Amino acid sequence: MRIVKNGDVHVSAPVGLSRKKVGEFIEEHRDWILQASKRMVARQEQRTKFFNQLPMETRIQREEAIRRLKVLVEPMIEQHAKEMGVCPNAISYKPTISRWGQCNIKNRNINISIYVLLLPEWCVEHVVVHELCHLLEPSHNSRFYTLMDKYFPRWREARKETRRICRLKDGIK
Ligand SMILES: [Zn+2]
Repeated sequence: MRIVKNGDVHVSAPVGLSRKKVGEFIEEHRDWILQASKRMVARQEQRTKFFNQLPMETRIQREEAIRRLKVLVEPMIEQHAKEMGVCPNAISYKPTISRWGQCNIKNRNINISIYVLLLPEWCVEHVVVHELCHLLEPSHNSRFYTLMDKYFPRWREARKETRRICRLKDGIK
């Protein structure tokens, strides 16, 4: 049994289990379901509220956000890429709500979510270094985190703070 994002409850049962048994099971867990469902709806509302802080419905709003983001992020990329000796191919900015950043190892393209504008600057820097680090090491293995220790020693703290601010499902990739 699991609670999905809109608060609905999905129950899977083995083939052959009678509807009556399934009904009984749901009835027994009624309170738990109600509580979990309420929590899920509240969390979704919180997320929506968080992302709505940066309105991006109109083209002008999006362009303005990207302009602000470039001013913030481009110097960070330049500085860290130089220090790390990496060269990303292209940087794109998309209104991604499922992750803060993403690095395509094959074409060396990096995407930064426009919503990082809702994070403190040092957390944005963490996202930038994390993605650049993938150009040196694709996986989240011990080598990756050794590189993070070297190039952004506060990464643990930044990750914690980012998660505290908004719990994203996938977080940083
Ligand atoms: Zn990653």
